[in-house]
Amino acid sequence: METETSSPDETEAVAARLAEDLRPGDVVTVSGELGAGKTTFVRGACRALGVERPVTSPTFTIGHRYEGRVSVSHLDLYRFTNLSHAEWGDLEPYFDEAVAFVEWPEAAAGVLPPVRARVRLRHIARDRRAITIERADPRV
Ligand code: ADP
Ligand code: MG
Repeated sequence: METETSSPDETEAVAARLAEDLRPGDVVTVSGELGAGKTTFVRGACRALGVERPVTSPTFTIGHRYEGRVSVSHLDLYRFTNLSHAEWGDLEPYFDEAVAFVEWPEAAAGVLPPVRARVRLRHIARDRRAITIERADPRV
């Protein structure tokens, strides 16, 4: 699926539609350069999943875990290059019984649980972004 948005609200709405299909245990990677709208996308998904607390970038804390209608984790692996097993051990609880969104997932290639959807955001213009969402096969 590929779409374009013209505002942060539109990006949040695209994320909210994806969120309808998510349940605990699902992992969603969110890629794109700085300012592409990754955290904005995750915020929209969190809102749709019933998270009421402010959803902010976890860049300096690695991760946030929120309680909505389900648990929602938001990880930002920007400062990692290749996750060690010890680092993965610290992150693993975020994936337990939660819908997990991972910004900068490249560092965790190979250690992430199976990914339900890959989201990529790209700058088009000041307020325009292209969003592609690649979903795993439907659940059986
Ligand atoms: P990232 O997490 O990728 O670094 P953020 O979501 O933190 O990006 O920031 C994206 C910035 O771009 C925000 O200031 C947001 O308001 C702005 N923005 C402008 N247009 C859009 C859009 N269409 N979608 C998402 N963000 C947008
Ligand atoms: Mg971010």
